[in-house]
Amino acid sequence: MTPAADAPRAAVFLDRDGTLVEDVGYLDTLARLAVFPWTVDAIRALNQAALPVVVITNQSGIARGYFTEAFVEETHRTLDATLAAGRARIAAYYYCPHHPAGVVAAYRQQCGCRKPGRALVDRAAQALNLDATQSFVVGDKWADVELARAVGARAILVRTGSGAVEERRPRPGLAADAVVDNLAAAASWILMHLNP
Ligand SMILES: [Mg+2]
Ligand SMILES: [Zn+2]
Repeated sequence: MTPAADAPRAAVFLDRDGTLVEDVGYLDTLARLAVFPWTVDAIRALNQAALPVVVITNQSGIARGYFTEAFVEETHRTLDATLAAGRARIAAYYYCPHHPAGVVAAYRQQCGCRKPGRALVDRAAQALNLDATQSFVVGDKWADVELARAVGARAILVRTGSGAVEERRPRPGLAADAVVDNLAAAASWILMHLNP
């Protein structure tokens, strides 16, 4: 293998709720899982550009006792099946189950993996040989933009989910590289801004 083949790769780190699927509050039943109509095509376009797509999601509903880790994993298997039907693929899912005010003792903690903490991106980068500084973070909250800044990635805020509200409430000293309508537009922006 040439050194280049081993070099860490660019990736796309995607938020889940409000970005890939509708943000329904705490998604606690599969009946409420609503994939945006453009999600499959957008992920397939990123796949075709050989960009690993990794989901990074805060799931404090686990710490709050609203649902279990098993449910979150079942949700991700269901999403995978929807994507596979459209020949699109998520390389891996990483979720933070914690919250400092959780009611489930095992998950009640101040952690490094709840966004904007960077631990999930670091874990993914290690496992999948990714270079966060060449990568992109897409999400609907300023916490996603902050995560991008923390890891040296480019940040794209989508207006779906909380994004339109977030856009109207700018955070001093924090700016996205792009603010776009949805994940389809984010994928287009990424494909136009890939390093050669
Ligand atoms: Mg979100
Ligand atoms: Zn955590």
